Amino acid sequence: MRMRKLPWAEDFLKEQEVVIKEPSTYAGKWKQLLNKEVLHVEIGTGKGDYWILMSQKQPENGWIGIEKNNNVAALAVRKYTKLEEAMSNVAFINDDAENISDWFEKGEVDVIHLNFSDPWPKKRAHKKRLSNEKFIRQYADILNDDGEIQMKTDNSSLFEYSVIEFQKCGWFLHDFSVDFRRNEHDEDAISEYERKFMEKGQPIYRAVWKKYP
Ligand code: SAM
Repeated sequence: MRMRKLPWAEDFLKEQEVVIKEPSTYAGKWKQLLNKEVLHVEIGTGKGDYWILMSQKQPENGWIGIEKNNNVAALAVRKYTKLEEAMSNVAFINDDAENISDWFEKGEVDVIHLNFSDPWPKKRAHKKRLSNEKFIRQYADILNDDGEIQMKTDNSSLFEYSVIEFQKCGWFLHDFSVDFRRNEHDEDAISEYERKFMEKGQPIYRAVWKKYP
């Protein structure tokens, strides 16, 4: 996501309580922090629609958003601060998820969401894909035994790649669609990118993987 630099972003993010400054100090304590039994993590929130809408749809669960780009993260957090009703079930991490297993204890997370992750089309950049084996091995660590990854994308190449990567790592494909929005899915919020692709009439691919059947 290319964006112009927002001069206020860095200071704004530093001041917001919802933004967790040293996430590794909360490893093993996220459920306590949010006072919730179930923890969802979205990696690459972009401007935060999905993170916010899902935390409202499921106030009984904790929702942690992760976004590495300061400018986009600031827009997501600002959107959250403007809500009429403050949510106590959310936290935000403004950092790169490349070492995500440092931030959570083994088995601490219930669901990881990957929405319209950057496709990184060049082969040499595949290692940056959030469904690259290097990331999947960390997800396996932090997810509980019944935990799952939910992925949505418009990008058929990234989707095919992800199916193979999860298969290589021994995960089970639990749910799969090549046109997820063909039917109503009120239980699942539409992200910014998803809305754009739906408006263009493009199909939304979705898969859910579990570590064990
Ligand atoms: N999920 C949003 C949506 O569906 O509208 C945004 C999609 S945008 C294409 C992907 C976002 O993921 C970008 O904002 C990017 O900065 C973020 N991202 C990519 N790799 C990341 C990483 N390793 N850690 C944290 N954020 C990442």
